Amino acid sequence: MNTTILGYPRIGERRELKFATEEHWAGRLDAAALERAGADLRARTWRTLRDAGLDAVPSNTFSFYDQVLDTSVLVDAVPDRYRHLSGLDRYFAMARGARDLPALEMTKWFDTNYHFIVPEVGLGTRFRLANGPAAKPVAEYREARELGIETRPVLVGPLTYLLLAKAAPDAPEGFRPLDLLDDLVEVYAELLERLSGAGAAWVQLDEPALVADRSEEEVAALARVYERLGALPSRPRLLVATYFGTVGAASLRALAGSRVEAVGLDFVAGPENLDVLASVAGLPRKTVVAGVVDGRNVWRADRRRAKAVCAALLGLCDRVVVGTSCSLLHVPLDLDAEEALAPDVRERLAFARQKVGEVVALGRALREHVPDESGGRAPAAADPRVRERLDGLASGLAEARRGDRAARFAAQRDALGLPELATTTIGSFPQTASIRRARADRRAGRLSAAAYTAAMREEIAHVIALQEELGLDVLVHGEPERNDMVQYFAEQLDGYAATEHGWVQSYGTRCVRPPILHGDVARPRPMTVEWAAYAQSLTDRPVKGMLTGPVTMLAWSFVRDDQPLADTARQVALALRDEVADLEAAGIGIIQVDEPALRELLPPRRADHDAYLDWAVGAFRLATSGVADATQIHTHMCYAEFGEIIEAIGALDADVTSVEAARSHMELVADLRAAGYANGIGPGVYDIHSPRVPSAEEMEENLRRALRVVEPGRLWVNPDCGLKTRAYPEAEASLRNLVAAARRVRESI
Ligand code: GLN
Ligand code: ZN
Repeated sequence: MNTTILGYPRIGERRELKFATEEHWAGRLDAAALERAGADLRARTWRTLRDAGLDAVPSNTFSFYDQVLDTSVLVDAVPDRYRHLSGLDRYFAMARGARDLPALEMTKWFDTNYHFIVPEVGLGTRFRLANGPAAKPVAEYREARELGIETRPVLVGPLTYLLLAKAAPDAPEGFRPLDLLDDLVEVYAELLERLSGAGAAWVQLDEPALVADRSEEEVAALARVYERLGALPSRPRLLVATYFGTVGAASLRALAGSRVEAVGLDFVAGPENLDVLASVAGLPRKTVVAGVVDGRNVWRADRRRAKAVCAALLGLCDRVVVGTSCSLLHVPLDLDAEEALAPDVRERLAFARQKVGEVVALGRALREHVPDESGGRAPAAADPRVRERLDGLASGLAEARRGDRAARFAAQRDALGLPELATTTIGSFPQTASIRRARADRRAGRLSAAAYTAAMREEIAHVIALQEELGLDVLVHGEPERNDMVQYFAEQLDGYAATEHGWVQSYGTRCVRPPILHGDVARPRPMTVEWAAYAQSLTDRPVKGMLTGPVTMLAWSFVRDDQPLADTARQVALALRDEVADLEAAGIGIIQVDEPALRELLPPRRADHDAYLDWAVGAFRLATSGVADATQIHTHMCYAEFGEIIEAIGALDADVTSVEAARSHMELVADLRAAGYANGIGPGVYDIHSPRVPSAEEMEENLRRALRVVEPGRLWVNPDCGLKTRAYPEAEASLRNLVAAARRVRESI
């Protein structure tokens, strides 16, 4: 093996897997036909990879929904409530629920935008190799072999699997999934023996959890796992792949001391891996799969740098294999499908198929010691105006400081005249079929710009009238013109490009098409002002302007890697700062800058948190600090788990912060106050992620709970997120109850 990749997209060139799966869910495609579609996609992938000249082709990277869920099924970690079902029905019930049966929890796969199905493990879990000889990794290995292609099955490593699992609801206090590690490892042992029996020479075990801080106990567990698996009498050779960052030195030492034959290291997200490797005196007698081609971003590799890494590695281990930093699951499939990209952007890009080509070319260059003809990647064109402004910032002149909390609070109270427990929403209103049709018609040229604007204005007028009728205090325009909260801005900013087919799996059949931030970011003209000003012209109540914050603009895009993220964030922040100023000048007195992705970009290791939060918070403040004290800045965050960023939320210094809190019974409010947060706070009083209409009593109770720690003048009343995925009947009914709850509480204090 000289070249390999850690994984490949499975959705198909035209998202075939998505469409086949959704047809199956709709009852129009039977299970056998869906299985055939899957087999077809697998065969195509294996052939593509082999024909590209890759020495080692991975298998078991296919999944009908998610590879972690596949693992749960593989080791029979199936909660009892799904056991009356079988086959794909059981599988999809676990993934997305079935009648009366809720799905397993879903959460983000490390710091990516991919979501996995969280394993649920308890004392009742009896790990065993379900399907024995027909277990998925074995079956897919055989399937490839029948096509004449030798593959390396990829498994989620047992340690990472249990570290990602959560305790079943009925597990006793103090139970940790990791307690079951030894049982689980026996299943992996059986699986490895079966794979060996089927002919597999190598198996890849993914252990990305090793790039986060790991306790001594966890490192000891790691050593135990690979000692046991390494000692199996008949087994394939083992590649333990780490990715998404720098592996911990203790973990690497444990792997170095084990019998695994190869270790995968990510030299893109974890450039310090070389130092760690040197500090543990390398990996003598082992192979290192050098992740030098970025599996998470869309840029062509810097070949000179990649070769330098490989050369340095040769002094530290026995063999070097050129590889990707992680699975290519996180990038679009094929750049050749794109026809509209500007040539100067396109020539800097590589999608999954092109990255395989890069791995192969790098492997050849290294093996044959051929001089590098590729000369690296062309630089992005710089925008001198943006550069000048940023340089000015460095000397501190542009960041206007706002008044202190008390001054702002007083100025806003006078300017806005809002009641205590002011009611509002997070921004979007239901995206109806007619809104989506209007947007699609406009894109296809079937609707003129004027007709489109008229349709959107009509929608805005409807949303404003509805909010007045409901009695909300701070209104929104409803965001009908936005396809997506990042894409909408990306389309209007210089320095961003859109793809036509650049789909990436987000979860299950849901795919996203992230924009590409390729150059200096600038705002040629206002982006939201006309819509906001129009909405404000229809009402005497304040209308809240609505923007997406700099961190979220980066987190949900592919971002240039030729300068620090911090610098790019500041460019986006400057563009937003101008938008904020224009909104203020147009008479918008409240402006919300959403940062739902603030938690998402948090680096895996604690040691890196401060540096990240520093620039992330700085970018938000740069975007929002140009306004007068009387102008109120809001921010919004969702997807919970705020623990590690709770102080950063305060540091954003928004006047009002709305957060997802309904599912955690307002706990966050107390946490925020305990962390010193003293500005306005809008804990979501109901969960918008379900169509259920919450009662006024229930929301009232949430408000009273919040009032134990927040004074009424600082408490806001809002749902926990935007309403765009809801339908009007339930959204309206819920908001009516919300306003009633706020009124009742107001009257009683
Ligand atoms: N303003 C956005 C909306 O209401 C916020 C979305 C989000 O936080 N996820 O849709
Ligand atoms: Zn939200």
